[in-house]
Amino acid sequence: MYRPVNHGYIEAIIGPMYSGKSEELIRRLKRAKIAKQNIVVFKPTVDNRYSKEDVVSHSGDSIEAIPINKSSRIYDLIDEKTQVVGIDEVQFFDEKIVDVAVDLADKGIRVIAAGLDMDFRGEPFGPTPKLLAVAEFVDKIQAICSVCGHPATRSQRLVDGEPANYNDSTIKVGAVESYEARCRKCHVVKK
Ligand code: ADP
Ligand code: ZN
Repeated sequence: MYRPVNHGYIEAIIGPMYSGKSEELIRRLKRAKIAKQNIVVFKPTVDNRYSKEDVVSHSGDSIEAIPINKSSRIYDLIDEKTQVVGIDEVQFFDEKIVDVAVDLADKGIRVIAAGLDMDFRGEPFGPTPKLLAVAEFVDKIQAICSVCGHPATRSQRLVDGEPANYNDSTIKVGAVESYEARCRKCHVVKK
């Protein structure tokens, strides 16, 4: 894929859980590092720790990232030398993340954002849909359906091994929650 040099733009990497979004994000960021570019990577956090943590893929690759709880924090943590900004789990950020990504791209930064396009119900997830609309490049990638082995586009939420209900946003204490990649046909949302 052709990508202009010294121009800002937005790349979005989307798909269900286990589709390799983090793997692809890490791959692109590592290549930017090899090109001696100045990169900063962010991921969402629920608390106020700003310690360095890694973005880790299910296959074990990792890259150093800064956990932040508000998209505007990105401005405090980049500087005029920053050329590439990576963002993982973009669906968990506030809606302002889209404006921040656009602003950084306008300023000449390459923004690479990875995240879930749909929630466990199969509905568009948080700021991701808006980000896709303004991105120059979108890669929608698939996992493997854990039921039938076909390409999986959805994330199946299970509570104690059973498909979760549409309205289950939190689960009962003691219940075990898990996720699987599934295709449209095998994806189940109980109503
Ligand atoms: P994501 O960020 O999209 O959740 P990761 O990049 O963390 O995905 O992990 C992708 C890796 O997960 C694959 O390379 C593979 O090793 C592993 N994996 C586990 N389950 C599946 C599955 N059902 N489909 C595809 N890959 C899977
Ligand atoms: Zn299937």
